Amino acid sequence: MSDRQNKAIIVGAGPAGLTAAYELSKQGASVVVLESDPEYVGGISRTVSYHGYRFDIGGHRFFSKSREVEDLWTEILGSDMLQRPRSSKIYYGGQFYSYPLKPFEALSKLGFIESTLCVLSFLAARVNPTRNPKSFEDWVVNQFGRRLFRIFFKTYTEKVWGMSCREISADWAAQRIKGLSLGSAIKNAFLPKRVLGDRSQIVKTLIDTFRYPRLGPGMMWETCAKRVRDMGGEVLLGRSVIACRFDPATTSWTVSARTPDGTLEEYRGEHVISSMPIRQLVSQITPRLPEAVTRAGESLRCRDFITVGLILRERNRFNDNWIYIHDPKVKVGRVQNYKSWSPEMVPDPNYCCYGLEYFCFEGDGLWTMLDEDLKALARKELEQVQLAAATDVVDGCVIRQAKAYPVYDDDYKRHVDTIRQGLDTHCPNLHLVGRNGMHKYNNQDHAMMTALLAARNILAGEKKYDVWGVNEDGEYHESGAAGTQTSSDWKGVAAPAANS
Ligand SMILES: Cc1cc2nc3c(=O)[nH]c(=O)nc-3n(C[C@H](O)[C@H](O)[C@H](O)COP(=O)(O)OP(=O)(O)OC[C@H]3O[C@@H](n4cnc5c(N)ncnc54)[C@H](O)[C@@H]3O)c2cc1C
Repeated sequence: MSDRQNKAIIVGAGPAGLTAAYELSKQGASVVVLESDPEYVGGISRTVSYHGYRFDIGGHRFFSKSREVEDLWTEILGSDMLQRPRSSKIYYGGQFYSYPLKPFEALSKLGFIESTLCVLSFLAARVNPTRNPKSFEDWVVNQFGRRLFRIFFKTYTEKVWGMSCREISADWAAQRIKGLSLGSAIKNAFLPKRVLGDRSQIVKTLIDTFRYPRLGPGMMWETCAKRVRDMGGEVLLGRSVIACRFDPATTSWTVSARTPDGTLEEYRGEHVISSMPIRQLVSQITPRLPEAVTRAGESLRCRDFITVGLILRERNRFNDNWIYIHDPKVKVGRVQNYKSWSPEMVPDPNYCCYGLEYFCFEGDGLWTMLDEDLKALARKELEQVQLAAATDVVDGCVIRQAKAYPVYDDDYKRHVDTIRQGLDTHCPNLHLVGRNGMHKYNNQDHAMMTALLAARNILAGEKKYDVWGVNEDGEYHESGAAGTQTSSDWKGVAAPAANS
């Protein structure tokens, strides 16, 4: 047992955990961050290095409506934050379509008959929309018509989630693509931006640059971890948290972590900030939580993810940052070109590195495939979708990411509410933050904002901010201009007192 009594024990050194540690350390509060990964900080936002080639877990754009988050990124990385051009496409039926879709390009590539059918099906959806759409399918069909839904949404979305679009909640569509419709795409195609007026009215998927660290997102979190350590905080890698025990007599927490060699360590703290998956957390807490709460935790599902990183001779086949693969004949869902994200992602300009993304469930056929077989599959599929010749591939690596996407099925909200109520009642000074930590489809900025607010609640000694209010409006997190919100937007929402 470490003698140090911390103000906060933080589980996970992803964006949420490190942001909380940074904020608390800046105010002089003692923190220890426990991270299970033995090598990397950054969580899903880490950057993996293989022979000097750098791979994200999916390309990570840095964009936030929150002024504080944008400023924090600048404070941590300064001029190492690049402003990069955005370019992405959809591969469908042997053709590449600009994404966001350009209506006239899309209609001309689809051909006269298919285009006419798309327009008719769009008009049919406008005349007779599904009232109160509950599923992703209903929501998108209302916006685009059934034919365009089938061509440009169904295959990719079902690859990502591994389930039918009818089973996916409309919440997800509302959060990710709100404001984007065929009507708005056509308006954007016709009218110059100055005519469209305030930039905040332009749907963000149509914005054409983003910020990105020179050496990938991992650079942000490695620098942040160093700053925390410089301020006296501990960031410990290779520490898998396996138990969290609350002592009502001392109102303090003891957290147990296992190191890779099997050693068990214990840490004491006044508060626990957790960014580990909720289902893991609720099963670790003692005194044991009511069964309804642990059962709700077990019911939360996640989707897992594999990136096959390939190193290729540079043939300038494409310069886009990424390409969505809507073709059902291949398993790959998206291809990233990391040199387009930042030229420094490759050590030798004669080569480039791609990330081929496969969506799966832990333990299924893809997840358990041998690395060599996955690399062979990726090489073959890259040629099938016309993005390289298989013979140009010189090397590769496989990166598996468990729990990449919290699944929004019909019941997830009910389960999360049960867990929230249980933790508020039984676990004082326990703060849930981040993406899997709250089972919320948060990007880095919202994961960070939840952590900032949790840290500020701890410093204030009361629940001044409603952490669960972040991103609660269901608005697509990228709509609107960068840096227009402040933390006061999440202030003063009535919060249960038990957790303060
Ligand atoms: C394919 C893909 C693309 C994405 N693209 C973008 C993008 O373009 N822009 C963007 O902003 N966001 C993007 N995101 C989202 C972003 O990755 C997450 O929002 C962010 O990493 C969440 O931060 P977090 O700290 O909440 O969680 P995580 O990043 O998951 O970090 C949690 C950390 O906790 C650790 N941990 C878990 N359990 C334990 C335990 N028991 N003990 C100790 N440590 C533990 C994990 O190892 C991990 O390091 C993307 C995500 C994916 C999957």
